[in-house]
Amino acid sequence: MSLFDEKNLKNTSISEIGEFALIDILTKDIEYKNKNIIKGIGDDAAVIDVGKKSILVSTDMLIEGVHFDLSYTPLKHLGYKAVSVNISDICSMNGQAKYITVGLALSNRFSVESLEELYLGIRLACERYGVDLIGGDTTSSTTGLAISITAVGEVKGNSITYRNGAKINDLLVVSGDLGSAYLGLQLLKREKGIFIETPNIQPDLAGNDYVLQRQLKVEARVDIVEKLRKLKLKPTSMIDISDGLSSEALHISKESKVGVQIYENKIPIDTTAINLSEELNLNPILCALNGGEDYELLFTVDQKAYKKIKDDVDFTIIGHISEESVGNNFIAQDGSAHKLTAQGWDSTNL
Ligand code: ADP
Ligand code: MG
Repeated sequence: MSLFDEKNLKNTSISEIGEFALIDILTKDIEYKNKNIIKGIGDDAAVIDVGKKSILVSTDMLIEGVHFDLSYTPLKHLGYKAVSVNISDICSMNGQAKYITVGLALSNRFSVESLEELYLGIRLACERYGVDLIGGDTTSSTTGLAISITAVGEVKGNSITYRNGAKINDLLVVSGDLGSAYLGLQLLKREKGIFIETPNIQPDLAGNDYVLQRQLKVEARVDIVEKLRKLKLKPTSMIDISDGLSSEALHISKESKVGVQIYENKIPIDTTAINLSEELNLNPILCALNGGEDYELLFTVDQKAYKKIKDDVDFTIIGHISEESVGNNFIAQDGSAHKLTAQGWDSTNL
């Protein structure tokens, strides 16, 4: 119901078109008035030219019930994560984060002490990443907790990595390993379900420290940005993995107008994650492709960088870039190619 006359508006539901198409619709035809905007909407952070350096700006929001469940997320960890996911977007532009602001919407359910816990995590992350908390906003909410953080960073003009620079024959590289954050979440959900049914049973989390840490104590890969600098290696494109490998690879493909080829047998997955996926009856590759929240960096480099990348434990070459006409493919163990989609590939014929 609205006091205003909006009855002539059509009623397209958001789920019909999805998040990315919605952003496109809402922001199409926006013309920037300030000439020093190098990149506005469309990458992990906006880029503003201020001379030798460029300023990076990125916002990410976490909502209770959508992004986190406080029955298994300690507030301190949540605060740390809320900062990390923003720093990760600055990393994906090859930049250094400098400042954050924190917006909070709170319901009465939260005590002062619990919010101090949240801030312990936020402050710990600020220490870890060398960023200063310089402001924010606090307001009430009718339902639960929302945290919106804006990160501001900087990067030298010629070091910026966008989503749109991948070139044909480039190597596709990922840092760390994938799928564990999603598996950690599935484990926590399982144990929550068991706890609701039988509250006197202690949660069984033994042996799964790594996946739990990947879900609860999220780290932005500032070390990878530093390593790339030391190796004198500038990726041709880069993005952070917040939504899953498939989705992010498709962003690089779309923005760079190239095809992405990913090989199943190259995708790095931790062994404890593989064991847990078997226990939970989940396909570990699908967890890596679609799970999200790993906050690793996905990037492309010229083939000349092969030597610098190949023996580094932090990097795995998982595929390469092809012409756009080849499409985006997931090459399974048996050599068969499957169209890569944001929801993974159609596994029914495997
Ligand atoms: P990420 O996953 O890296 O956080 P998103 O998928 O959230 O990025 O956003 C994609 C791009 O769209 C970014 O450049 C972001 O700044 C922009 N964007 C997202 N939501 C909005 C919005 N409501 N209005 C304007 N720009 C938006
Ligand atoms: Mg991002």
